Parts: sequence; structure tokens; C-alpha cells
Amino acid sequence: MICKNCSAILLDGERFCCSCGAAIPADEQPIQPFQAQPETQPSDESPQPGQAKTTSGEYIALLLVVLGICIFAFIAAQLGG
Ligand SMILES: [Zn+2]
Repeated sequence: MICKNCSAILLDGERFCCSCGAAIPADEQPIQPFQAQPETQPSDESPQPGQAKTTSGEYIALLLVVLGICIFAFIAAQLGG
């Protein structure tokens, strides 16, 4: 704690400054800096061996194209009678 009048270093619980005699407010609290702890989440995404070369994205895209062709063919057949 530091006296606001003369900036003298005071002990905790001091009511009066020992240097200038100024009254110390009882609700004086030492200011503690806010310590933010960084949250580090390690991203351990290593490719696992043994998987197929074809990625899932390419497989899904191919599946969608085939599905679209099937739906188009089905609709065309329905319309054609
Ligand atoms: Zn003082």
C-alpha cells in the first residue's frame, strides 16, 4: 500500500501514514493485474496410414453427380411416359 499523500510505502493495516500522518482509507485494496491464461488447443490432425487415396470430399462429389444423373433420368422417364 502506498500513501496517496506522500507516496510513502505503508504496511498493510496501517490507519495513518507514518510519514505524513494522513489517514488511510480502510477500503484500500491492492490492485492485482488481470492474468489471462491462453487456452492452447493442439491440433493434432495427422493423416492415418492405411486409408484409401481417394479423399472423402471427392467421393461425396462423385456420389452427388451420380445421384443427380439418376434423379434426372428418373424424372425424364416419368415425363416421357
Ligand atoms: Zn503519507
